[in-house]
Amino acid sequence: MHAKPSTSVDEVSITLATGGSQEQKGMMMCKVFVLDTHKRPLNPVHPGHARLLLTKGKAAVYRRYPFSIILKRPVEEPDLHTLRVKVDPGSTTTGMALVNDVSGEVVWAAELTHRGEQIKQRLDRRRAARRSRRQRKTRYRQPRFQNRRKRPGTLPPSLESRVCNVVTWVRRLIRLSPVAAISQELVRFDTQALENPEIEGVEYQQGERAGYEVREYLLLKWNHRCAYCDASDVPLELDHVHPSSKGGSNRVSNLAVACAACNQRKGSQEVGEFLKDDPARLARILAHLKAPLRDAAAVNTTRWALNARLKALGLPVECGSGGLTKYNRVRRGLPKTHWLDAACVGSSTPDRLQVIGVMPLQIMATGHGSRQMCNVDRFGFPCSGPKGAKRVQGFQTGDLVRAVVTRGAKAGTYVGKVAVRARGIFNITTAHGRVTDIHHRFCMLIAPSDGYAYQARREAAIPPSA
Ligand SMILES: [Zn+2]
Repeated sequence: MHAKPSTSVDEVSITLATGGSQEQKGMMMCKVFVLDTHKRPLNPVHPGHARLLLTKGKAAVYRRYPFSIILKRPVEEPDLHTLRVKVDPGSTTTGMALVNDVSGEVVWAAELTHRGEQIKQRLDRRRAARRSRRQRKTRYRQPRFQNRRKRPGTLPPSLESRVCNVVTWVRRLIRLSPVAAISQELVRFDTQALENPEIEGVEYQQGERAGYEVREYLLLKWNHRCAYCDASDVPLELDHVHPSSKGGSNRVSNLAVACAACNQRKGSQEVGEFLKDDPARLARILAHLKAPLRDAAAVNTTRWALNARLKALGLPVECGSGGLTKYNRVRRGLPKTHWLDAACVGSSTPDRLQVIGVMPLQIMATGHGSRQMCNVDRFGFPCSGPKGAKRVQGFQTGDLVRAVVTRGAKAGTYVGKVAVRARGIFNITTAHGRVTDIHHRFCMLIAPSDGYAYQARREAAIPPSA
């Protein structure tokens, strides 16, 4: 039987060498950001160095997340090693990495989880409540859905929130570290390398790099499904529809994606022979082979909007493709995670990436509370009093606080997100559950609410505020 070329597009499963030694445990984190006393960013330092500066009183904690310290003296003409912010935007999770292009060191990494889906659900709920209110037989109400105007380029709220999340974090990193450039994954595959792939006859063996672009192209064209059995969420391989042993070309218009089982069963058969019992599918596959992928499917509005806003920050923005990211990552033997994908974005990626011991910060977008004036029941009727003040005794819902209760049944120390109540008696959500009825006198602010929840390690979770 004709040996098929190695066209597996499943993920490499290489685990990072992580021993249990004390030394490596100490390294399991990102570097700490440092500002001088005039809030000018300096080179990030090792957490041990930061701890020394803090205990000697030479610096103070500036921000809890991402952990940053501020020196108590100015630094004139510091020797800065410039860094690059790298972003791999995703619809649910965006990977971010701060990379030193010269040394290849990943200085800091994070995975940012968006709340786009939650925003959509809330808007749907509001729309349903308003609609049912208008439907009720009270009096005539003019429909108001047409008296809105959208500026060109306006994104839907759920997408806008994703873009804003990323821009917020890039700006934060620019303020906290010597960032000189930005890299962003803009498109799934490089359209320049694959101009008219069906017509020009791009072949997937035109060099390894082009192979990755072709694979991304084909996966998108076949909608990440096996062409022969519609299986998704399985490793997919490239299949020569007209087998190469019988003179089939490596052109994109002769390639489909198939699961390993179908690819194995088809072997070197002709597609007509293989699918002789399923003429409908055969016709569909033959038609789909000829049809080029619509450009619209490859262009992602959110990513282009993000690109425009990143360019407005005034730093050079490098754009990469998904195919290049994967090529970079697989060639360096790195497993697939959001932050490692981010570190591999763009052609500026250093040959050796130092990633051992980097613990990405888990960031969850939580929003800044609700704009609803009172709660409504499922029929859209108000079911609570009007909302109280957002700030109570200097605290607001979502702040990270430490409560040291010295007496009574609740005596103890609690650290977590606070939910304020107008009476000044709060609830605190800690890693071990919710503690109710803590007086504000016992609470001390650790970090003000900034619309995000954080989780440095999985076991020490700070759940997003309810
Ligand atoms: Zn299959």
